[in-house]
Amino acid sequence: MWIGGQWMDSETGETITVINPANGELVGSVPKGGRTETEQAVRAAEQAFPVWSGLTAADRGSYLKKWAEEIRREREPLARLLTFEQGKPLSEALEEVDAAADFSEWYGEEAKRVTGEILAGSKPKQRILVIRQPVGVAALITPWNYPATMVTRKMAAALAAGCTVVLKPASQTPLTAVFLMQLLEKTGLPPGVANLVTGAASEIGRALMENRSVRKISFTGSTEVGKQLIQSSAGQVKRLSLELGGNAPLIVFSDAEVDRAVKAAVGNKFENCGQMCNGINVIYVHERLVEEFLQQLTERVRSLRVGFGWEPGTQIGPVIDEAGREKVAELVRDAVMRGARVLTGGRLLTDGQLANGTFYAPTVLSDVTYDMRVTQEEIFGPVAPVVSFSDEEEILKRVNDTPYGLAAYFFTRDIQKAFMAAERLEFGMVAVNGTSLSVPQAPFGGIKESGQGREGGHYGMEEFLNIKYISMNL
Ligand code: NAP
Repeated sequence: MWIGGQWMDSETGETITVINPANGELVGSVPKGGRTETEQAVRAAEQAFPVWSGLTAADRGSYLKKWAEEIRREREPLARLLTFEQGKPLSEALEEVDAAADFSEWYGEEAKRVTGEILAGSKPKQRILVIRQPVGVAALITPWNYPATMVTRKMAAALAAGCTVVLKPASQTPLTAVFLMQLLEKTGLPPGVANLVTGAASEIGRALMENRSVRKISFTGSTEVGKQLIQSSAGQVKRLSLELGGNAPLIVFSDAEVDRAVKAAVGNKFENCGQMCNGINVIYVHERLVEEFLQQLTERVRSLRVGFGWEPGTQIGPVIDEAGREKVAELVRDAVMRGARVLTGGRLLTDGQLANGTFYAPTVLSDVTYDMRVTQEEIFGPVAPVVSFSDEEEILKRVNDTPYGLAAYFFTRDIQKAFMAAERLEFGMVAVNGTSLSVPQAPFGGIKESGQGREGGHYGMEEFLNIKYISMNL
């Protein structure tokens, strides 16, 4: 753990082990911190706050730009570590590390662009000033699926805004966070500005929630834990931003280009072995195109190379753990029991060198209907269920009928339909004729039970700033 500029073990000496999901081998271990270490980290962040928030925005930004440089310099080892603890193919890990650096660089530049306003007074001698100030100590809680970008996307925005932070990464993938903090240390960041606590989630979470000095919680993870955090933050009315689960539809309208839609569907659906919050959950294809779509999709999915992420050519790694894989298998079993057809995959991969990992075969399901759990729940695995539809009005209603609202995708060549559907879809993000969404300058985030608040762009910095209104009477 990194607290107040010092690297330390937990008070009890206990550790948590990090296992490679591809082969079950030990990757390393981190301290199992709890309440004591969390309180220490919050104190360190509190002490560092006046110094850090008192720097010029340009100075704060320069640390972030240096962090981006350090991340790029260590691109390869960082990506390899990420692959070992998380399982994704090295090519994807490299992309993630690049994106992590991009977030830090972008916020390094954006730090300078925090502005205020002067409004007309209500009396001749009144002036109204609106200024923005950092919220204070921010706690950042990150998930295992993107262990590098989730850290920098939050932390760079918080630091740029002038906040000091305590980071709690996911226990399955804490080593990437440790490496990132070592790189941040190299920038000469003043002690206590950024702190890292690893360990028992519920204990650390409680200590953060009960500490009055923590003014903001930024969480990415499951909707279930997000809801708990809403409840536990109520006592002190802490500011919260929540990036939670999703159930993203991909709609292929009758006038879509099938090749393009299939290529994009495979790229998005099978990225990170399907473990992406904004990943396509279910594919809805117009009945006129469904046969051709399924044929092309199945062909492509069948040719995906499953294996160890560090081996060249691997396209699909393991599911993060046995519980994750079992959930995927259970959803497929439920779909098959209710009449879905497995066009490829639909089974655990346990042969040969995959035996000790948590691999699941890339899967395509056809004849999928709305009573199947795959259409209602976040699959978080390499399974593409395909639903055929005929009525475009009805399909928009159907896909909106979910408690989630993170991302939606559709393909059409009709400009009228593109605007109509983009506006009617009840999701925080919509991509038309493509699937790319997470970029530093854009507001990433969801509505409904997919969360609140945004990450990325100036929107992401607003989450770490308070607005103050000053009435100045001359
Ligand atoms: P998770 O179980 O909710 O865990 C996320 C983080 O919260 C981990 O660091 C975890 O620590 C911590 N945590 C767990 N219980 C906590 C508690 N009571 N108090 C405080 N912290 C607690 O989620 P996950 O399974 O790692 O991540 C997958 C989920 O994240 C999916 O639903 C996915 O859609 C969502 N996600 C959303 C976005 C987005 O931008 N909307 C991005 C990525 C992922 P431990 O690991 O120590 O338990």
